[in-house]
Amino acid sequence: MTLRLGMHFDDLDEAYNFYNAYGKLAGFSIRKESSNRGKDGEVVWKRFVCSKEGKTDEKHWIGKELVQRRRMETRFDCKAKLQVKLDKSGGYVVSMFVPQHSHAPATPSKRFMLRSHREVPESKRQLINTYDAANVQSKQQMQVFASQSGGLDKIGFTDTDLNDYNAKKVPSFAVFSTSRLPS
Ligand SMILES: [Zn+2]
Repeated sequence: MTLRLGMHFDDLDEAYNFYNAYGKLAGFSIRKESSNRGKDGEVVWKRFVCSKEGKTDEKHWIGKELVQRRRMETRFDCKAKLQVKLDKSGGYVVSMFVPQHSHAPATPSKRFMLRSHREVPESKRQLINTYDAANVQSKQQMQVFASQSGGLDKIGFTDTDLNDYNAKKVPSFAVFSTSRLPS
């Protein structure tokens, strides 16, 4: 998988997905950073960065109290990035690419923890909804998925993602309303 200056993408999603897939192979996670819009609201350029870009705020103030902040993903002021700019003939081209990272990549056994590569896939959602409606705990659900995929690290998402998915889900009232016919 190679990335180079001038490489063309049809849209910003394609650029993000390509850089994310590239990051997955190399062992890092990415996030969307800044972008700039033109007069008509179109995105003129957009930048994607390594998730370890920036500096960790190790301490911050809450009122008069200085507290230590704990972060799952600490930052290393990494400068690795991909920037694309609007192509006059349509789509986007790579206008800046910094491949060097200021930190070691995640080891293969830790790569499933990288945020931008985790997602609860469409194919598992119905089963999760059923489990959730039956009050099956997320830990037990994860064990089922782990045995299906051959390990917790092969599921593609973590119990945090599972809980986030359930928290954001719109409650399914349709399941319960069938017994209540309009009078
Ligand atoms: Zn990095």
